[in-house]
Amino acid sequence: MAEDVRPVLTRLAAEVGLSTVHVARFADHELAPDADAYDAWVANGMHADMGYLERGADVRRNPAQRLADTRSVAVFSLRHAHQRPADPGGPTGQVARYAWGRDYHNLFGKRLVRLMKRLRLEGIDCWGGVDTAPILERKWARLAGAGFTGKNCVTIVPAKTSWMFLGTVFLAADATPDPPLVKNHCGTCTRCLVACPTDAFTGPFTLDARRCISYWTIESRGLAPRSLRAGFGRWLFGCDVCQEVCPHNTRPPPPDSDDLLPRNAWLDCVTLLKSSDDALKERFTGTPLRRPGGTGLKRNALIVLGNLGDDAVVDTVREQLAHPSDVVRAAAVWCLQQLGDSRVQQHVDSSDVVKQELRVAYDG
Ligand code: SF4
Ligand code: SF4
Repeated sequence: MAEDVRPVLTRLAAEVGLSTVHVARFADHELAPDADAYDAWVANGMHADMGYLERGADVRRNPAQRLADTRSVAVFSLRHAHQRPADPGGPTGQVARYAWGRDYHNLFGKRLVRLMKRLRLEGIDCWGGVDTAPILERKWARLAGAGFTGKNCVTIVPAKTSWMFLGTVFLAADATPDPPLVKNHCGTCTRCLVACPTDAFTGPFTLDARRCISYWTIESRGLAPRSLRAGFGRWLFGCDVCQEVCPHNTRPPPPDSDDLLPRNAWLDCVTLLKSSDDALKERFTGTPLRRPGGTGLKRNALIVLGNLGDDAVVDTVREQLAHPSDVVRAAAVWCLQQLGDSRVQQHVDSSDVVKQELRVAYDG
């Protein structure tokens, strides 16, 4: 009988700071239905323009293409559930929980890389990663007993939490598996589907990224359609609504790492607008907030300020009409319109994006 590497896996994982590991036996499971559903989701354009979600379809469907002798799949999780600090009020916007502290790719992703190096030193071949690798992550989480997939498309530990990062490692070795989580624990609940501020769910378990605040405020380089912007409310970066309303998150256990302290839960939109793009890049280096760049953060701040509707910020917003990015200028036009500053109608701009924004705003 082949050696069981579970004790080695658990020991090495703990040594690199990964205390929660679940395991599935690779050969026991059929991936085709989930891979088909994923491919159909992409084919329907629901991944918006996130091209990295298209890559690696063959490996996603058959991870043995990457590691021929795959025998086990280890799923790691790291909880990050801090309480949201009190609303500071004023012209502030809120940040999704996962982004309050350090970039999890640096923290969690690096721990996984360290673990894989140590496994290889022990003669155990492996590969894996966090969310950018072509892996049916939620499927493996379910099969390894780490959590079920909620109607909000997020992995949930029943009655505990969905505030966690997931990572998956394929192993060319046998490890004692955990029982899979076969039951879906949503029952008749539909809270997440109803609460989504932009109606991004086309139904249970199906999210259209083209309508999701997280996509528009983090991944997209463009400006969200006007019809969605009011739904952003005060979400400046990401959105937690479909997890906040989930009954499984009522009393989440504490986070697994002090490195994820809530430093950036609320940000002042006026400060963001008054900072140079380079200063914002530097300020948010090493955190997820660096991803949209200074331009993206300013675009987001303008949408939040437009939704807050306090005309005390008009002068700061007007300064953005001179920003080099046409997306920021177009967002400023929208924001000024929301704030009732009719002078913006006289703004002359060479960009088609801004002209279009002015046309829709003022010519109907
Ligand atoms: S993250 Fe926000 S916008 Fe996106 S699906 Fe969830 S509730 Fe809707
Ligand atoms: S809010 Fe309800 S339906 Fe949505 S994931 Fe949670 S339990 Fe499932």
